[in-house]
Amino acid sequence: MAVSETLQFDHIVIGSGLAGLCSALHLAESGRSVAVLTKREIFECNSRLAQGGVACVIDRLDSFDEHVKDTLTAGAGLCDKGAVRAIVEEGPARIKELIELGAKFTTKGDLGSKTDADSFDLGREGGHHKRRILHAGDITGAELERVMIEAVRAKPNITVFEFNVAVDLITTARLDVGGPNRCLGAYVLDVKSGAIRTFLSYSTTIACGGAGKVYLYTSNPDVACGSGVAMAYRAGAKIANMEFIQFHPTILYHPTIRSFLISEALRGEGAVLKCRESRTAEPVEFMQKYHPMKSLAPRDVVARAIDSEMKRTGEECVYLDIRHLDEAALRLRFPNIFEKCLEAGINMAKDLIPVVPAAHFSCGGIKTDVNGVSSIMGLYAVGECGCTGLHGANRLASNSLLEALVVSKFSADDINSKFELFKKSRPPVAAALNWMTGNATDSDEQILIAHNWDEIRRFMWDYVGIYRTNKRLERAKNRIKLIRKEIEKYYWDFNVTADLVELRNIATVAELIIDCALSRHESRGLHYNADYPYLDPDLECVDTVIQRNL
Ligand SMILES: Cc1cc2nc3c(=O)[nH]c(=O)nc-3n(C[C@H](O)[C@H](O)[C@H](O)COP(=O)(O)OP(=O)(O)OC[C@H]3O[C@@H](n4cnc5c(N)ncnc54)[C@H](O)[C@@H]3O)c2cc1C
Repeated sequence: MAVSETLQFDHIVIGSGLAGLCSALHLAESGRSVAVLTKREIFECNSRLAQGGVACVIDRLDSFDEHVKDTLTAGAGLCDKGAVRAIVEEGPARIKELIELGAKFTTKGDLGSKTDADSFDLGREGGHHKRRILHAGDITGAELERVMIEAVRAKPNITVFEFNVAVDLITTARLDVGGPNRCLGAYVLDVKSGAIRTFLSYSTTIACGGAGKVYLYTSNPDVACGSGVAMAYRAGAKIANMEFIQFHPTILYHPTIRSFLISEALRGEGAVLKCRESRTAEPVEFMQKYHPMKSLAPRDVVARAIDSEMKRTGEECVYLDIRHLDEAALRLRFPNIFEKCLEAGINMAKDLIPVVPAAHFSCGGIKTDVNGVSSIMGLYAVGECGCTGLHGANRLASNSLLEALVVSKFSADDINSKFELFKKSRPPVAAALNWMTGNATDSDEQILIAHNWDEIRRFMWDYVGIYRTNKRLERAKNRIKLIRKEIEKYYWDFNVTADLVELRNIATVAELIIDCALSRHESRGLHYNADYPYLDPDLECVDTVIQRNL
């Protein structure tokens, strides 16, 4: 039967990572009401886990041109040059604002330097030709979330709804009221009561983050199910470049500690990748065979090289060697990673760190311009779930926090400038808005959710992972078609739960990744298909765009 409450806000923001909280804060500057919806507790997100930092031109020996050039090189011919420049050039202003809000980035003085103690300690990561990564020790994301949560909590016109899962967007197309497709808000599951409420708004900003959970092995936390992309796709928005999944080369390989990332910043400080030729042999360096920048080559090159060495030698992992630094230096620069490794029985100053690649970042997403404007009126996408063209076919390390900061500001400015138009042109709210549960009952088949979830994640890893072929992609397509059919039936027969919403979303996103991968007839950036060669990245290429027929 029809449900429950309808809540009205001027703006809703779905997600409480860096992109969502920054959006909410900028939108709230107008004095209008903002609702932030988030799946679990406010701090549960990818942003909080970021270790390396934020790429930004700070040093006088660096320049916007060089940061742009490194981004375009990593992006392998698919970046939107205008978006890259706009985001890179806005970086310093956004960093200044974070510092004013209280963010503490590590300075050279913090690391013991007496000269130049007030300057920021800038890290270096793969693909960057300059040191330009601002960091807060090795817990940069946690520091930025801390500051943003404090700032958001201090705003009386922002209401945060924790344990509220957005299920689907409400659009004029869905309600069949005619005119161009326009977003009116979202249906939201209140996890604690089980009720689905209607949130109405004049603008809706999706900031749902990445989709790492689509893969068996990932650095992402449980909330990263690609919900934003799945909801936007169902609503009829354009989705682009989903084939470009970044696999982080170095996740700790350990039987019980899962998904712990060993930051690229270690390689920036001279750590070297090594592999064993056999169980008993001493590990040796191998990256010189794959790229002139060796262990600091771009991530896709490193991840593929590791995958290839592991397959060649039959070993279960490779190793990072940072033993040239002593314990004191390591504890100072990487306190969090040092402690976590100790917990795993590894002293980084004396032992090699066993690592494997895992799904890490989604370069594609809801297609937007640099202001986060999607193809549906009133709908914006910011952060990892969006596709502005900054990353192209491969993300340059530490550019994603920068994108989250900048695009959330640009999108809030865009929404503020169009607010009166959005308000005036919204069609009248009808009773048809209410969520209908029809004949749905409570499910007694939780096993179906668990089974399908595992199956999707496993075949995505095996068939649509670092190494792809047409045959593997076709196999994955056949599997996902069947599973999605099963899920859709289940979805309409039973009452909606958070687990079911997530399963439905990872299945949708998996299919979008497969479809995009199948339609790209070349290898480029992160998308390696052994049936097609890598072409000259300067040759003309286009985004892969998918849009559902409504
Ligand atoms: C381990 C790790 C280390 C990283 N290190 C770096 C780094 O050093 N530098 C860098 O630039 N990038 C790094 N990244 C990538 C970067 O952290 C992310 O790209 C960025 O934080 C994404 O921010 P976001 O706000 O878009 O998404 P997130 O921070 O993931 O936030 C998404 C939010 O959406 C919520 N959500 C999702 N679905 C729903 C739904 N249906 N309803 C309600 N809420 C929902 C989630 O609960 C969460 O609050 C790292 C990522 C990981 C996983």
